[in-house]
Amino acid sequence: MNTRTRFAPSPTGHVHIGNMRAAIFNWLYARHTGGKFLLRVEDTDIERSTPEAIKTLLEALDWLGLDIDEEPLYQTTRMEAHLAAAEQLLVAGHAYREDKGGLGQGECIIFKMPGIDMEFHDEIKGTLRKPAADMADFVIVRSNGTPVFHIANVLDDIEQGVTHVIRGDDHVENTFRHIALYQALGAPVPKFAHLPMIINAQGKPYSKRDGDAFIGDFQSKGFLGDTLFNYLALLGWSPGDDREIMTREEMIEAFDLSAVRSSPAQMDLRKLLWMNGEYIRAMKPEDFAALARKELSAAGIDPGLDAEAVFALMQPRTKLTADIVPAVTFFFTEDYEYDEKAVQKKLLKDGAFQTLEKIIEIFQGLENFATETIDKALHEFVEQSGLGFGVVMPPIRIAVSGQPSGPDLAPTLAILGKDTVLARIRRTIEQFG
Ligand code: GLU
Repeated sequence: MNTRTRFAPSPTGHVHIGNMRAAIFNWLYARHTGGKFLLRVEDTDIERSTPEAIKTLLEALDWLGLDIDEEPLYQTTRMEAHLAAAEQLLVAGHAYREDKGGLGQGECIIFKMPGIDMEFHDEIKGTLRKPAADMADFVIVRSNGTPVFHIANVLDDIEQGVTHVIRGDDHVENTFRHIALYQALGAPVPKFAHLPMIINAQGKPYSKRDGDAFIGDFQSKGFLGDTLFNYLALLGWSPGDDREIMTREEMIEAFDLSAVRSSPAQMDLRKLLWMNGEYIRAMKPEDFAALARKELSAAGIDPGLDAEAVFALMQPRTKLTADIVPAVTFFFTEDYEYDEKAVQKKLLKDGAFQTLEKIIEIFQGLENFATETIDKALHEFVEQSGLGFGVVMPPIRIAVSGQPSGPDLAPTLAILGKDTVLARIRRTIEQFG
C-alpha cells in the first residue's frame, strides 16, 4: 500500500505545538513508509482562516522542515462536493432532513448512525469500542446550507486518498461517526492513530498558561526548527532505546506508529532548552557564525570582519539564538550597558576598585596579551593577593562587558585586546569609583 498521510489544520493565526506534533508524526510516518505527506487546509471558518493565518501555518511547516507532497487542498474550494455527498446520503437513506428546533428556519441534513455497536483498531490505542446507544445521529449540513466539519473532513480525506489519519485523541469520538460516514459513502475506511495529548506538570492539557505553546513563540525566543522537530517527535514516541538527539534520517528510519505511547506526554521546557543548546553546539562553526551575524545585523550591530573568535567563544554556551545579541554586544561597541545589580553587588564593594587598579598594572606589564598569559597573570595575582577568584574576576568582567557572567574571562579579554581592556577598566573606575 502506498501510504498517504495528511496534516489537516484549521488555521487560526497560531499553531499549537500539539497540532504541530501531529504534523510531525504524519510526516515521519509518510517518510518512513516511502509514502506521501499531504496538507489540507480546513479553512471553512472564514473569520479565523484569514490569509495571514494561512501564511503563518505554511511558514511554521517550512520552519520545521515539513515538506509537503502535492498541492495543498483548501477545504473552502470543496463545498459543492460536500453538499453533493450529503445529497447522495439522503438519496441512499443514510440521512434525513429535519427542521431542528422547529423554528421554521430551514432544514438541516442529519446523518443517520447505523444503530449498531462499533469498534475500530487504533494504531496507538488498540481496539476502541462504543455501544450504539451512545451514538446519536448528527448534523452534516446546517440549515443555512453549509456543510459541517464531519462530512467535510471525511470527504476530503477520501478525495486526497488518505490511508492513515493520524491526529489528536480529542478526535476519537468523531472517528466513530467518521467511520460510519465512510461506510455509508461506500469508501474504504483509512487506518486511524490517535495521539495522546501533551500535558503540563499537573497532568492537564498543556496550554499557553503553562508557557510557550505556539510555534511562533518558540521561533521568536530563539529555538531552532530542528530542535523543536526533534523534541516534539520524541514527545510520546521513542525509538526504543535511550537516544534523545537524533537526525531526521535516524528518526525517519526508526519511526513507527506502534511505538507511540498511548499515555499523555509531558511537556518539559527545560529539556527543550537543553536540547536547543545541544543543537547549537553541534552546528558547524561557520553556520553558527552566519546565524550570529544575521541576529546582530537585525539588531543593527556590525561585528566587523574579525568576529569569528567571538562566535567560537559563544557557540558552546548559547542555548537560544535570541541570547546571542545581548551576550556579545559588548565585543563590538563601547556603548554597552552595565547590569545594575552586578555593579551594586560586585563593583561597589570594598576593594573592588583597588583590585582593578592592580589589574591595570599587571595587564600593562603583559607583552603578549593572549589567553594563556592573561590566565597565568590572573592566577598569580589571585595567589599572591589571597583574594580568591570570586573577588578578582567579577569586577574585571563587569568593567569590560557590563555583565555579571559571560564566556571565559581570559579569552574574552584576549579578543578585546589590551588597549580596549585597559581603557574600559579605567573608564569604569572613573564612572563608578
Ligand atoms: N481541522 C481539524 C483539527 O485541526 C482536523 C482534525 C483532523 O482530522 O486531523 O482539529
